Amino acid sequence: MVDQENSGGHSKKPKKRFIAGAVCPRCSEMDRIVNYQEDGKNYRECVSCGFKDEIRLQSNPSELLTRVSTGQRKEAGEEPVKFIQPIKKNK
Ligand SMILES: [Zn+2]
Repeated sequence: MVDQENSGGHSKKPKKRFIAGAVCPRCSEMDRIVNYQEDGKNYRECVSCGFKDEIRLQSNPSELLTRVSTGQRKEAGEEPVKFIQPIKKNK
């Protein structure tokens, strides 16, 4: 009788948790981002496309959350400047 890998199997797998509502920045799939720790660092990984990124909680913790109200795009502020001047004909 041989025990099959029951005795010495210390397989340390990182606990991967799905981040609810997280959107992958690469493939834009929702609920495909898992969060796990490896070597004391936090990583997020997309199980759909394989996107992997290190989460740095110290610098900007808001980026871990969904980017909703932080990026205010000001695209409507640019207007083409037109100098329409009447041609003065000085005679
Ligand atoms: Zn992805």
